[in-house]
Amino acid sequence: MKKQHSHPSLLELKIYGTTEIFTPRRVYCVGANYRKHIEEMGLPGREKPFYFMKPSDALVIANPNETTGISFPPITKSLHHEVELVILIGKKGHNLNLKQSKDCIFGCAVGLDMTRRDIQNSLREKRQPWELAKAFDQSAPIGLIHDFESIIDITNLDISLSVNGKIRQKSNTSNMIYSTYEIISDLSKYFTLYPGDIIFTGTPEGVGSVVKGDIINAEIESISPIKLKIE
Ligand code: MN
Repeated sequence: MKKQHSHPSLLELKIYGTTEIFTPRRVYCVGANYRKHIEEMGLPGREKPFYFMKPSDALVIANPNETTGISFPPITKSLHHEVELVILIGKKGHNLNLKQSKDCIFGCAVGLDMTRRDIQNSLREKRQPWELAKAFDQSAPIGLIHDFESIIDITNLDISLSVNGKIRQKSNTSNMIYSTYEIISDLSKYFTLYPGDIIFTGTPEGVGSVVKGDIINAEIESISPIKLKIE
């Protein structure tokens, strides 16, 4: 007799205002894509963004109108928030130009690239890969995914994050060094993109640490906000 082994987190991504459902595939993240964030991290110059991944089971779906709890991860003393515009890919694509990149987008959401900053800094010093800092359980909360067609211009959206009611991050997606379309185009040269792929497009300046009990509100214009409690 066959015995099936599985993990508990087979998520379904529902798209607000549609009947579509996606199964998450890969979660790509872009690093260093806002100039002022690069400055605050002490990184050199106007770098080309780079990529890392999180496992898709690190996603947490944060429903609007609810406070979603996420656990403070073990080992770290410095859990940081990074608010980001998140893209859901709806079509297979490889070597895409900018127009094709835009056509590949199915939806958008608010997301948080939660980061063990102390571990990331030490990995960076040792030139080691970032999984322990970026790919931990519940490290990728995202809000309701909105139909891309319902958003007028994703290259010009106010983006902000507050902790316990105090604003920490406040910018606009127009401040990205590489636009969402340029990122998708660039990424598609390295990987074939598929429906269900998710892209975190980088965070603006103002990242900082949170502790147990903190309430995070993350907002992007025209998209449902998310509210998290660190537990
Ligand atoms: Mn990030």
